[in-house]
Amino acid sequence: MKDALDISIVIPLFNEEESLKELSDWIGKVMHDNKFTYEVIFVDDGSDDSSWEVIEQLKTQNSNIKGIKFRRNYGKSAGLNVGFAATTGNVVFTMDADLQDSPDELPDMYRMIKEEGWDLVSGWKKKRYDPLMKTIPTKFFNAATRRMSGIKNLHDFNCGLKAYRSEVIKTVEVYGEMHRYIPVIAKWAGFSKITEKVVIHQERKYGETKFGLERFVNGFLDLLSITFISKFGKRPMHLFGSLGSIMFLIGFLSAAYIGIMKIYHLSQDVKTILVTDNPYFYIALTSMVLGSLLFVAGFLGELISRSSVNRNQYNIEKEI
Ligand code: UDP
Ligand code: MG
Repeated sequence: MKDALDISIVIPLFNEEESLKELSDWIGKVMHDNKFTYEVIFVDDGSDDSSWEVIEQLKTQNSNIKGIKFRRNYGKSAGLNVGFAATTGNVVFTMDADLQDSPDELPDMYRMIKEEGWDLVSGWKKKRYDPLMKTIPTKFFNAATRRMSGIKNLHDFNCGLKAYRSEVIKTVEVYGEMHRYIPVIAKWAGFSKITEKVVIHQERKYGETKFGLERFVNGFLDLLSITFISKFGKRPMHLFGSLGSIMFLIGFLSAAYIGIMKIYHLSQDVKTILVTDNPYFYIALTSMVLGSLLFVAGFLGELISRSSVNRNQYNIEKEI
């Protein structure tokens, strides 16, 4: 059998025709200088400029280059997912195609994975060349992700430049817009040796960013879903059922208390207001209704997760 390549570099791109040649030459030079065997996998995410023609052209000059083209634009996560599936190298890198990430970082990151034994090394754009509109919300985003994921040592979750031991990317699945959370998904899959390396970041040279401000709203919602799925995905009833039961119980006990007090007062011939004139009655009622709804949601969630194909999929590290 042929030895596996040292390095696979996955580069998702959408309308980046101006950068590709420069990027590919630069990577080629770094790989050659360090004597790595490598492959570059360009995943063209349905570009409508001449990106694909450039990739075809590059491939004729360099056999280490591979290309995959989507028929339409699916998003960066889809590109990464398909690119990951095609990799054959021992260490897999992801990079943006816009020349904001520097290929000069690759040898050091490779060494960290190979020699220091990390599962994942994430780039940290300590000094960023992005507009303030982006860098300030990004700080909040990273702080929230650190808290919710428990990965305390990453400053920059969404850096495009990352290195992975190949098992990691063959195990985790990136979908939707989850590319922002690959370290989080990796950690929950059991790959806990995660670290970062300060990397050089450059201003975008050509073209413009493909993500607008909606990235922050979507990113936040994704963080909620991913936290929920990893914690309760396999046992939704534990969340909804307990919340629902508590709410129902509080509502039920309050309603019962109101009813019993009413009967007691009647028996003592004390004049009291109607039960329906008591504002607490409505709060109790609402709480019972919401409690039942939550309970039903948990029950439905349980039925769904029970019939899911990967309900018994676990990540087995070793067997002897
Ligand atoms: N990208 C992609 N599909 C998309 C949007 C972006 O493959 O639908 C690629 C893009 O070409 C680039 C990388 O994802 O290589 C990062 O995008 P961008 O530089 O626009 O993001 P930013 O640096 O502003 O976070
Ligand atoms: Mg960029």
